[in-house]
Amino acid sequence: MQRRTVSTAAEVRGITLFTGVQSGVIIKPADRGNGITFSRADMGGHTPIPASVDHVIPETRRTVLAVNVNDASAADKGSVSVQTVEHIMSALAGLGITDAIVEVDGPELPIADGSALPFVEAIVAAGIMNLGGGVVEPIVIREPIEIIDPRGVAAGRIVAEPGDATGLELIYHLDYGSAAPLPAQTARFVSTPGSDAYAAAVAPARTFSTLDEAQAMRKMGLFGHLTATEMLVIGPDGPVENAYRFSDEPARHKVLDMLGDLALAGGGVGRPIRGRITAWRSGHALNHAMARRLAEMGGVSRG
Ligand SMILES: [Zn+2]
Repeated sequence: MQRRTVSTAAEVRGITLFTGVQSGVIIKPADRGNGITFSRADMGGHTPIPASVDHVIPETRRTVLAVNVNDASAADKGSVSVQTVEHIMSALAGLGITDAIVEVDGPELPIADGSALPFVEAIVAAGIMNLGGGVVEPIVIREPIEIIDPRGVAAGRIVAEPGDATGLELIYHLDYGSAAPLPAQTARFVSTPGSDAYAAAVAPARTFSTLDEAQAMRKMGLFGHLTATEMLVIGPDGPVENAYRFSDEPARHKVLDMLGDLALAGGGVGRPIRGRITAWRSGHALNHAMARRLAEMGGVSRG
């Protein structure tokens, strides 16, 4: 597959979801072989954080990357981390970008409208270009891999299988049970290089929570800075003070998250995935476990 980067810098600014601060991100062109790397401009930007599953640290409801800086004289000694990377990773993977430097000026990426669309629009406006002479070998799924949630199969399951050789097919089965405010739904998407289907079918799907979850999060002091119009909250009668962008928007958002999290298998060196991945109720933790297996299988060097 052809390596690609942005032609010029793309910028998105806005509020963050977990840390509740204003933040900005600039996606800059990178040379072939850089892969996707994050950096923290507010900490001097000295330490690249590769978009690799080797750098994922466990956190609930989001994807966090970190590197440890052991040099005592370094200005940013300690742990340099960046939170909520999954939506921008999804945008980059969905647009076929293999190499970029993603500079964040705070601890977390802006949540924007909860989807990947603002990142996609900024990148498309900045332009996408082929990297001369740059070809990358995808990670091809050649045999089935199944991972079951440690709490049992009812809690989540994710399966990788050989599939369409030209793309990554993602299928997400969402089923929160008959008492849940959102009906069972399935979303399917094939991510193919050079296609603009991602921007229309997946990128606009927003992150969501049920009204019960949103109320529990507020009690824990989270999301208090966001109103229902800024965040898709689903109550017994559907979205609260909001409307779905797609009838199956929640399942599509799960596909968006899967694409972003799975991209961490080879993201540190810019390698995309080829095959079919199907998930039942899986969240970030199972996505990361699958990304780890794919990275091992693909022989992706430690970044
Ligand atoms: Zn998400």
